[in-house]
Amino acid sequence: MSLTLKAGDLTIHRIVEQETGFMPALEFLPTLTPELLAENRAWMQAAKALDAQDVLILCIQSYVVKTPHHTILIDSCIGNSKPRPRFPNWHMKTDDTYMRGLAAAGISVGDIDYVMCTHLHADHVGWNTRLENGRWVPTFPKARYVFGKTEFDYWAGVHAKTPSPTIEDSVMPIVEAKRHEIVGDEHAIGDHIRILPTPGHTPGHVAFTLGRGRDEAVVSGDLMHTPIQARYPELSMISDVDRTIAAKTRRSFLERYCDTDTLCCTAHFPSPSVGKVRRKGNGFSCEAI
Ligand SMILES: [Zn+2]
Repeated sequence: MSLTLKAGDLTIHRIVEQETGFMPALEFLPTLTPELLAENRAWMQAAKALDAQDVLILCIQSYVVKTPHHTILIDSCIGNSKPRPRFPNWHMKTDDTYMRGLAAAGISVGDIDYVMCTHLHADHVGWNTRLENGRWVPTFPKARYVFGKTEFDYWAGVHAKTPSPTIEDSVMPIVEAKRHEIVGDEHAIGDHIRILPTPGHTPGHVAFTLGRGRDEAVVSGDLMHTPIQARYPELSMISDVDRTIAAKTRRSFLERYCDTDTLCCTAHFPSPSVGKVRRKGNGFSCEAI
């Protein structure tokens, strides 16, 4: 399993926190029919994206991008000690898998210059903070944490009405520590990292395009979760906030990168998680490199 990739003058490391069964496919993808699942079961199982009980297998990972100037961590996974009772594999966990993954890539928490989140769900912001003497503190002591304005405003509004544990323990402590930057879609880091708005899963969901002068790679976040959504971009997942917009975003994103050399770094596809987008029937596939 390749955990390190080269793209132009960038080095990209995958830091995997979990790769395991998550939810039955028919529940996760509400418009997936048993017939369509049956047609696609063999290749999904061969890709290790589906287990023998038709449960989808998801990888949960960060991408650490080293440019000639900065080290940037994109999406910070689940984290430890976080109350997430809906997901037993996430709830109050205490394992060292993530920190061992960083160390294996030769990265320490002090090396991270920026943390960027594609969106503010629990499996993308968890390691933003860690528990220290009963308080949530930034895990990456030198990092600026970059949040998209549309996404931040949306969750701040949700949290103000009904407190969200995720926002409470993984986003607000960053704001209180004054380590955050709220940015618009035009924001870039140097000439290597740009924002590509990809709404639908959440209102302010963004992808990040990486590379000087061209998109050598793109980190796609949760605009899709599992390879069958590339094959059938109209399949939205259960927690897409706007399933219609999510489906449109998915197709236009896949069309944008179809038959290019851009490495598509997915959040949740099973390992190797990274591939090049190719046309397949009326949809696409992300072909491992
Ligand atoms: Zn996710």
